[in-house]
Amino acid sequence: MTARMYYDNDADPRALAGQTVAIIGYGSQGHAHALNLHESGVNVVVGLAAGSKSRAIAAEAGLRVMDVADAVKAADAVMILVPDTAQKAVYDAEVGPNLKPGALLLFAHGFNIHFGRIDPAPGIDVGMVAPKGPGHLVRTVFQAGGGVPALFAVHRDATGTARARTLAYARAIGGTRAGVLETTFKEETETDLFGEQSVLCGGTSALVKMAFETLVEAGYQPELAYFETMHELKLIVDLMYRGGLNFMRFSVSDTAEWGDYVSGPRIINESTRGIMRQVLHEIQDGTFANAWIEENETGRHEFERLRAQDRDHQIEQVGADLRAQMAFLNPVVVTAGQAQAAAGKPGAH
Ligand code: NAD
Ligand code: MG
Repeated sequence: MTARMYYDNDADPRALAGQTVAIIGYGSQGHAHALNLHESGVNVVVGLAAGSKSRAIAAEAGLRVMDVADAVKAADAVMILVPDTAQKAVYDAEVGPNLKPGALLLFAHGFNIHFGRIDPAPGIDVGMVAPKGPGHLVRTVFQAGGGVPALFAVHRDATGTARARTLAYARAIGGTRAGVLETTFKEETETDLFGEQSVLCGGTSALVKMAFETLVEAGYQPELAYFETMHELKLIVDLMYRGGLNFMRFSVSDTAEWGDYVSGPRIINESTRGIMRQVLHEIQDGTFANAWIEENETGRHEFERLRAQDRDHQIEQVGADLRAQMAFLNPVVVTAGQAQAAAGKPGAH
């Protein structure tokens, strides 16, 4: 089965003509959506809390800023771009009670709808436009004339216009320049959580740390172990990004390719597959979501403990020193959750 892709010609901007779009939150995704929509000719208002530091930044960028409740009252479509863990409280207090009848409520990730945390009133359209890339790229790629691919979904079409409006939104942020793919809130939520846990964040971090520890424990120099198990990973991933595993294997030596085939499946093995299936099962049946919601509602103590424990791992200390000597990398130092460019440039996300 080949998925249908939607491009600019499949998304009619007139579906949002004359409508006002409220962007709630001005972080990684929020600033990118608001500015891209604005430059695409959409009437945008940014909704932020009275004390938010982002208010001045959004206003300086030429955007209209209001309190969240007022932005929602003024809007025909409302995109929720506050952190997933904060969405329910913001929705219940300020968004839900102020939505116009027939408004389109949009998300960039399906978590809160799929797990029933947010339950919009019956007459409200509910859709999703989820860029498959970080917010700063959604902005800079758009400015360069391109777009970041995205997923879209329609959870509820109460007005008969939800699908057209969701696609028009995807076009206005640049998504249909690269191609957007239809999904459901269930599929997007489950695959997004599984991807970040198994490969993108969880699996990769654990693999890198364990390989580093194995070399250091065996008496090899930590600096060398850092280059071998973390620094060089980017070079390999760049090859995969351009031409898949085949291009990576074409580029590396035959010895590396042979080791890939004979040792890779011993490291990531059938027992790993069993754990992967278990992780997916716990995402599907809500076990993961319930535990994470509970963790947030009880002060995030375990989250902060795990964060602190990994922050000072030897690979982080060794790596920071080595990267500081490689200014061309535009290295970033992260302390207690704050990212700062080592060279004093504005931090990357
Ligand atoms: P973020 O953490 O970068 O920014 C959230 C913004 O919301 C903050 O900058 C602030 O303006 C506001 N905010 C923070 N806490 C708040 C609170 N308690 N009440 C009200 N406002 C608050 O968030 P993000 O990473 O842009 O994520 C927004 C949505 O986009 C999420 O649903 C996320 O899953 C989704 N998403 C993010 C990315 C990404 O690259 N970061 C990619 C795809 C989808
Ligand atoms: Mg993701």
